[in-house]
Amino acid sequence: MGTQQRVNLAVIIKNPLNDDELLLTKQALPPKFNDPEYDSYQDSDLWDLPSAQLSLLDRSLTTSQVQFENEDSSLSEFLNQFDVGSAADQVLREVGLEKTTNVKWKFLKVIEEPEFGPGVPIKTLYIVGELEIHDWKLGDCSKWMSTKSCEDLLLEVKPHNDRIGPLVVAGLLNDSLQSANLHIPPTLRSLEYPPGVKLVPMKSRTAKPFHTTNLIIFVPDTSCNDFSGDNFLASGDALIVDPGCSSAVHKELEKIVTALPRKLIVFVTHHHHDHVDGLSVVQKCNPDATLLAHENTYRRIGKDDWSLGHIPVLGSEEICIGGQRLRFISASGHTDGHVALLHVATNSLIVGDHCVGQGSALLDITAGGDMSDYFNTTYKFMELSPHVLIPMHGRVNMWPKHMLCGYLKNRRKRESTILKAIEDGAKTLFDIVKHTYADVDRSLWFHASSNVRLHVDHLALQNKLPQEFSMQRFQSSCKLSFFSRWIWGYLTVSIKHHHLQIVKVLGAGAAASSAVLYLRSRDA
Ligand SMILES: [Zn+2]
Ligand SMILES: [Zn+2]
Repeated sequence: MGTQQRVNLAVIIKNPLNDDELLLTKQALPPKFNDPEYDSYQDSDLWDLPSAQLSLLDRSLTTSQVQFENEDSSLSEFLNQFDVGSAADQVLREVGLEKTTNVKWKFLKVIEEPEFGPGVPIKTLYIVGELEIHDWKLGDCSKWMSTKSCEDLLLEVKPHNDRIGPLVVAGLLNDSLQSANLHIPPTLRSLEYPPGVKLVPMKSRTAKPFHTTNLIIFVPDTSCNDFSGDNFLASGDALIVDPGCSSAVHKELEKIVTALPRKLIVFVTHHHHDHVDGLSVVQKCNPDATLLAHENTYRRIGKDDWSLGHIPVLGSEEICIGGQRLRFISASGHTDGHVALLHVATNSLIVGDHCVGQGSALLDITAGGDMSDYFNTTYKFMELSPHVLIPMHGRVNMWPKHMLCGYLKNRRKRESTILKAIEDGAKTLFDIVKHTYADVDRSLWFHASSNVRLHVDHLALQNKLPQEFSMQRFQSSCKLSFFSRWIWGYLTVSIKHHHLQIVKVLGAGAAASSAVLYLRSRDA
């Protein structure tokens, strides 16, 4: 116990001169790219509770441990593992309150995040510090802010305004703002950020390193519809996005859907089975539910998953859920039917599989995945200046523009390596993959090859390929020719390392059959 877990300390300090105000710190910006294009895209300032990572307590040292006024024995056991004292001192130093010696600490709560993965869920210990009225001066990156201003910044977002982070929401506001009419089974943990948008990661048949798909649930309390003149594609009292959980948790999904209002809108960002595996459950629990999806997505959804009708989405329409406006954003790239959704009031963007919580997203060449679409969608997302990106796998991202620029940068870097290989004489898919992924395990080359094909198409579209490069010859090298050279190369390399030959050959066979399966259907 201990070394695996990650625990953060979040500190709530109320202004002794005004009980309604709390202390927030401006969060450090992610590192610059040192490239004028990418550095020109900047996310707006993000304010959150001051926090620090808790380290395990070295028991050989007798540091002054924090005493909580309301500590009980079960709590002590948990708290005693960590050096809360040093972390609290660090926080006070950072906000400029280090000379305030008399701080009375109270334990508030411990929140464990849901299983977003990869890695173990992070816990956050919330404590409340009471300051004595004193002649202190706050640091440059700290300020007092009323809970009302926090709520305004969260719920009525204007592009480029300051943002309020998730610690404030989970630590202070959630209890008052939480969607009252939403029931999540106790076996599932959820995250509500921004307020009103609930994320429930549920086990799904998705690609590594993830093992869950975020089900997004939106059930506003208010149903005052002041958009009567507007032309909505559909309206409802509740919305769920991407019910993609595997059958192991269909019972839980059933409970969630049954507890939701009957006038339910179901939206799927794209057709991959880790996004639609729970559709049949939704249909069974609520046959009145309306499915919204892009035509290309709907076409690929099996009749076993959804047999009722649907409303086609192009990707610019709006829907109204409980009096709140959401806008579809066409977002092809990952597939040709991929659509994102913007919650207008909080300016939060549900991005489907365009982005994932960690690492980069694959494009599906078998379902119209396209690199040039992917770049266009990425720029479109940046123009929206979203306050938060909500992916379907992994944690929410608080630095949308930075993340999207990182994607652009990585893909451009890969593309220039591919172009270099072509300029150096590579003419076939296999040769380009061999050059570009020389340092990557050969078993992964098959997956890498579709990425190379998408990049070559993108290079051709930009007229960047050398004149002597024949697209026709390249394309004819993509199917069986690549496959046989890959398998052959894989086997000969394996046999050269003549230990455990049989295992290797079996491994190649397994890789080959997985590749065949991959050709037939794609997930992620
Ligand atoms: Zn996908
Ligand atoms: Zn996915």
